[in-house]
Amino acid sequence: MTAPGKTLLVTGGSRGIGAAVCRLAAGAGYRVAINYASNQEAAETLVAEIKAGGGEAFAVKGDVGDEANVLSMFETVDKRFGSLDAFVNNAGVVDAKARVDELSAARLERMMRINVIGSILCAREAVRRMSTLRGGKGGSIVNLSSAAALLGSPGEYVDYAASKGAIDTFTLGLAREVANEGVRVNAVRPGIIDTEIHASGGQPGRVAAIRDSVPMKREGKAEEVAHAVLWLLSDEASYTTGSIVNVSGGR
Ligand code: NAP
Repeated sequence: MTAPGKTLLVTGGSRGIGAAVCRLAAGAGYRVAINYASNQEAAETLVAEIKAGGGEAFAVKGDVGDEANVLSMFETVDKRFGSLDAFVNNAGVVDAKARVDELSAARLERMMRINVIGSILCAREAVRRMSTLRGGKGGSIVNLSSAAALLGSPGEYVDYAASKGAIDTFTLGLAREVANEGVRVNAVRPGIIDTEIHASGGQPGRVAAIRDSVPMKREGKAEEVAHAVLWLLSDEASYTTGSIVNVSGGR
């Protein structure tokens, strides 16, 4: 699955699953643009690690939930890489554990703005650059959904689950819309993966607490999700579009 010289942008690429995708991709020969929202140190540390390993990477700051930030992020990538071969819509957030009857409009607005609107805006910019209908040379997009899209996350964060359900539907629709324009669009649905997202939602012990409910009786590693993403991005998945791969230990 080598991709020498191909260009890749990963939103939220500085930590967690996105960082694992960037590491694997750089090792496969991709030139990698690593987006982050605020933690510049994490992004620059990963850039340095990739460069030390002989790869090419740079960090680009931007909130995917802000259209002006999205436009400027893609323009930065245009200037640096010239064209975009692959895009991973990875940035996403959870929130504190809450029932639906406790949700505020402000929380819902943030969740949907980042997870849904941000992902759609970023995919729009990727398609504008990749679609043969718009003069592009084709490309591949992978969206990060979640097992939550199928489980609904009752009593925890149904709003997050619903945002990922939207990603599933968006993946199917966009895949069919651009299938004849050289652009493949797929998604992965990770299960319980050991990253900092659980602590950011106020549940640092979440992985340990629900590990036993996973049929494999363990959490996944970010690298295990990244391998699926890299395959979907690659030419080896050339006849695969509109697919959503569960990477969830059977959950
Ligand atoms: P994470 O460890 O919390 O990392 C989040 C990354 O996204 C960071 O690089 C962060 O940048 C960035 N980010 C956050 N908000 C952003 C925004 N508005 N604009 C741009 N970048 C932003 O998350 P993760 O666990 O790797 O999750 C990655 C994706 O997988 C998400 O879409 C998540 O919903 C999905 N997922 C995760 C799991 C799991 O168990 N971990 C399961 C299913 C699905 P900063 O460092 O600057 O904050």
